[in-house]
Amino acid sequence: QAKSEGKGKFHFYESSLSEALKARLDMERALQQAIVQDQFVLHYQPRVSATTGELRALEALVRWQHPELGMVPPMAFISLAEETGLILKLGEIVLAQACAQLAEWKAAGIPLVPVSINVSPYQFNRGNIGESFAACLARHDIDPSLVEIEITESAMIGEQDDVATELSSLREHGIQLLVDDFGTGYSSLSQLQRLDMDGLKIDRAFTGQLSKSPEGEVFFRAIMSMAHALGMSVVAEGVETEEQLRVLQSLSCDEIQGYFISRPVPAAEAQVLMQRRYLFPVADPLALPAA
Ligand code: C2E
Ligand code: MG
Ligand code: MG
Ligand code: MG
Repeated sequence: QAKSEGKGKFHFYESSLSEALKARLDMERALQQAIVQDQFVLHYQPRVSATTGELRALEALVRWQHPELGMVPPMAFISLAEETGLILKLGEIVLAQACAQLAEWKAAGIPLVPVSINVSPYQFNRGNIGESFAACLARHDIDPSLVEIEITESAMIGEQDDVATELSSLREHGIQLLVDDFGTGYSSLSQLQRLDMDGLKIDRAFTGQLSKSPEGEVFFRAIMSMAHALGMSVVAEGVETEEQLRVLQSLSCDEIQGYFISRPVPAAEAQVLMQRRYLFPVADPLALPAA
């Protein structure tokens, strides 16, 4: 009796493992199909001047409009896309959609700001990212100054020389380069300078520490002075409160992004933000009495 129970359990374990593999394969197939059926949509989150609230750029953030699951966030499929190589096709889709959107806004006479596009490390080391961006921009008649690229620190650490070559190819095409989620990886400032990055986006984990502890400010202060000395601008990600904004202003942070300004929104709403231009929820946060 006990023996057969044990055996049953083993079978159960085995079958749940294959269930997991099956689920993964299903997901992979669904993702493949999503690419063919064009089920991806970009939302846009504003990045604004920390001092005036003026719109500086829109970050393109991909969502999967799954026929049954609804809107699937990137966390749920980017790593699978990377592991399966589908990220290359997805990257092209995101780029094409961002360029098409810019062209549409341009044709409608909307005052444009750059769109920043997240690029996976897997899209590097292929030797043609600069070319593919330039080709897509040319196809849609979009000025390269209207596109920026966000790459994580880990992407810059990989195959050093290849990455440097591809980054300089992007730069030669006039595309700005930002380091995403800065502070979570292991890049050194000398590396960032060598790669001639234009700006740092400080991970929201650090923003979350501001106004909670004095140490939170120390990190920002140090990064800010070094980044500025190296000619890079600093963006704080994940700004959720007015208090965080005030601290960032006092530290001379250049730009902010986060729910305090706006969540990522569909293109139609992003267009409204572009027309409004100044996006602080209050006219002048510095002029308000201290909380
Ligand atoms: P990310 O590039 O660091 O983008 C910022 C993420 O933080 C977004 O999540 C955004 O919605 C979220 N966020 C913004 N402000 C706040 C805030 O104030 N509080 C909090 N709690 N969160 C905030 P999302 O859209 O789910 O994207 C997650 C990640 O997926 C992105 O992180 C990026 O690494 C990746 N991703 C998104 N789109 C693409 C893409 O087109 N290609 C690639 N390769 N990766 C992408
Ligand atoms: Mg990003
Ligand atoms: Mg980030
Ligand atoms: Mg520079």
